[in-house]
Amino acid sequence: MTTAPRARILSTGSEIVQGLYPDTNAQTLSRILFEKGFRVTGHSAAPDEPLLIEKALETAMRACDLLVVTGGLGPTVDDVNRDILASLWDRPLELNHRAEEMMRQRFARRGIEMPEGNVVQAMLPAGCVPLLNHWGTAPGFVLPPEHGHPVLVALPGPPPEWQPMLDAALEDVILDLFPNRPVRTVHTLHVAMTPESLINEQLADLFSGREGVELTLLARRGHIRIRLIAEGVDAAEAEGRVAELRAEVVRRLGANLFFAEGPEDINGAHALVDLLRSRGQTIALAESCTGGAIARAVTDVPGSSEVFHAGWVTYSNAAKARDLGVPEEILATQGAVSEAAVRSMAERARDIAAADWAVSVSGVAGPSGGTKEKPVGTVWIGTAGEDGTEANHSQFSGDRIAVREWSVNQAAELIRRRMCGLDRTALIRPERTG
Ligand code: ATP
Ligand code: MG
Repeated sequence: MTTAPRARILSTGSEIVQGLYPDTNAQTLSRILFEKGFRVTGHSAAPDEPLLIEKALETAMRACDLLVVTGGLGPTVDDVNRDILASLWDRPLELNHRAEEMMRQRFARRGIEMPEGNVVQAMLPAGCVPLLNHWGTAPGFVLPPEHGHPVLVALPGPPPEWQPMLDAALEDVILDLFPNRPVRTVHTLHVAMTPESLINEQLADLFSGREGVELTLLARRGHIRIRLIAEGVDAAEAEGRVAELRAEVVRRLGANLFFAEGPEDINGAHALVDLLRSRGQTIALAESCTGGAIARAVTDVPGSSEVFHAGWVTYSNAAKARDLGVPEEILATQGAVSEAAVRSMAERARDIAAADWAVSVSGVAGPSGGTKEKPVGTVWIGTAGEDGTEANHSQFSGDRIAVREWSVNQAAELIRRRMCGLDRTALIRPERTG
């Protein structure tokens, strides 16, 4: 088994530690380095203060094979990384003529004479590999490992500048310095409407103790990702390991529990659109508390126009009655957040849109509007199809945004289960398939 080289990330910038911007550099870099077979052992951030940057660098350098530093390469007085890094690596700064020329051309293209203060950006540590910046002014650089120092990659702060620079640097320099990286494979299984604790219980002994594989659960508002990560000396070994673990997880939970698998960034709406497309069927939506969030999720999926033609956001009672024909009597006696209301909304939406299926949602997203009988988080979801109409009651927790997200995830899963003839009474127990 190859051991993954350790990488650390240091983001510099007062705006980061003051909380003005999220540190998306650390996040994006972590993803990239993980994919390339590094083990990211930590992130840190430091304000634009030389002493604090030095301290953060000294700590980060001790525990890694590759150190990536972002920000602080610009021309202003608070951009101090170039000087600090050159001095820590004990290398003088030298003018890089190519970088200077690129900067001058960049200014010339904009019809401006380059302020001489900018030249400082083309001063790079002697012996570095320069990373030319085609998307901004500040070049970055790579310093090879020496005196027990890690490989250093210094990048400017703005993502549109450093991302293409890093892509090129990985291919041209960095990856060659780490020839023994493991190959990684990630396979994600997606589950909804099932408590995380239940999945955890079924998979408890798989979380550790298997060579080269790792299993993690990520739960967010009714959508659980079971992430299977494998490492190997090559793709075949990594994929073989992931396939073995996947088979065991599927054996324990039953293949029907997963609404999708493979990529990480998919949700219930993707699975729903795929399912409808594979059957050549269509769906209509009638939303209240989700405010169009289901329609948004569905239409975020490329190709959704084949399966989704119309939806309604009927927020007021009057709109529910006028546009979807929900009987006034239901609204008056049972209220808009009720089984009868969502049944009626789903049936009418399906009829008007002449769709194969319809989903409706009505609930109390909060923060106000809750009552003793229908507290905040009460959500009714209706599903209508050729074979009738069903309604499902849920009590979600969290704020307005959370209740909406729970509702979207639950609605997508309910209609999927209905379309596939799976149990949808409540939070189903994963079935065992022997
Ligand atoms: P510039 O030449 O643009 O000044 P620089 O290398 O000096 O480049 P910074 O001044 O540190 O970079 O940052 C410039 C901008 O890049 C920030 O205002 C911010 O928009 C973005 N940025 C910097 N660091 C981060 C980070 N860690 N995460 C996300 N965005 C960042
Ligand atoms: Mg700057």
